[in-house]
Amino acid sequence: EAQVSLSEVVRRYDGPPVVQALGPISLDIKCGEFFSIVGPSGCGKSTLLDVVAGLVRPTSGSVCFEGKELHGEVPDGIGVVFQEDSSMPWLSVRDNVAFGLRTSSLPKQEVATRVDHAISFMGLAQFAGHYPAQLSGGMRQRVCIARTLVLRPRLILLDEPFGALDQQTRLLMGDELLRLWRETGATVLLITHALDEAAMLSDRVGVMSARPGRFIDMVETGWPRD
Ligand code: ADP
Ligand code: ADP
Repeated sequence: EAQVSLSEVVRRYDGPPVVQALGPISLDIKCGEFFSIVGPSGCGKSTLLDVVAGLVRPTSGSVCFEGKELHGEVPDGIGVVFQEDSSMPWLSVRDNVAFGLRTSSLPKQEVATRVDHAISFMGLAQFAGHYPAQLSGGMRQRVCIARTLVLRPRLILLDEPFGALDQQTRLLMGDELLRLWRETGATVLLITHALDEAAMLSDRVGVMSARPGRFIDMVETGWPRD
């Protein structure tokens, strides 16, 4: 059963010059799958992710999440993590993680429980009172992932989340992402330019070509999953 379904999706930017940023591309992502997209800079990876998130409308074609067509905003059930650190420097780690639930109708106690859980899940318990500037880049990216986790997404989209980190931290964060995927049961769509990262983590890797923004290959890694 496809959770995400793209059918003949094209995204063009009217120039000049006119840029065909993506497609035509068709893709089904299964519920619970770990799917990665690799390809050279400028091949349309971010555009694809933004289309799946509902942040960018396709010029033509259709995008469905859980059977519903997307309509220009991130729907409930999708969480997005970007490469750039999106933590808010004026808020503590705890308040950063709680931010997405500030207008939630959930009982206060449930909000607190979710926030605590996301913080400890990402190994941030001892930093809950710290501010982002007091943390390393890797720790700040953990905060950004925890901010998404409190929303309990069924699909997590990550756009080069470890691109700005050193190699050793990247490996560590890759393991963390795998653990997150296993323990939450969420579907993961990861964009990376690192083929080794994609191959190591994913069930399936979509390889994009520079022009005209399509998949040139689709690789099943065949990792055992239980
Ligand atoms: P990637 O994430 O693989 O680096 P992008 O999806 O960011 O690729 O971009 C794909 C292509 O579309 C690039 O040529 C980029 O310059 C172009 N592009 C992306 N966003 C816009 C935009 N808002 N306006 C015009 N061109 C864009
Ligand atoms: P990436 O790290 O994915 O390669 P880019 O540096 O290509 O990202 O793009 C960063 C931002 O600038 C994106 O929001 C993208 O939509 C926008 N952008 C990229 N290329 C263009 C362009 N030619 N014209 C306008 N906006 C662009």
